[in-house]
Amino acid sequence: MSRSLKGSEGCQALPDEIEYRILAHTISREKDVPGMTYVITNPCIGQKDASCVDVCPVDCIHPGPGEAEFEAAEQLYINPDECIDCGACEPACPVTAIFEESAVPDEWKQYIKINADFFK
Ligand code: SF4
Ligand code: SF4
Repeated sequence: MSRSLKGSEGCQALPDEIEYRILAHTISREKDVPGMTYVITNPCIGQKDASCVDVCPVDCIHPGPGEAEFEAAEQLYINPDECIDCGACEPACPVTAIFEESAVPDEWKQYIKINADFFK
């Protein structure tokens, strides 16, 4: 497994559940089955407080504080290839910017691609 698992402080998912989700995500990728992801949308712009970064167990939200692009970034983004769909970031966001992919409001659907494009 190539990803590192952060400590689970702040993450509401249980460590066993996180490990299970990472395993399921890895298997899906090996079988080329696209997994679900969470998406950061418009309200993050101008907020960027990084609460979501602190709770993500697989460190797939970037750029985080300390990364070179953080200051210049308009918002933060979730890497859809690494997100394990655990949902820990959603309640951590103070401005309700994070949605599960299928629940992104219509007016912000473009953020699904915007998040993915950041990592290309
Ligand atoms: S849903 Fe995805 S981005 Fe959010 S905390 Fe879980 S792994 Fe990280
Ligand atoms: S918690 Fe919400 S506002 Fe803060 S950086 Fe993450 S998505 Fe943006």
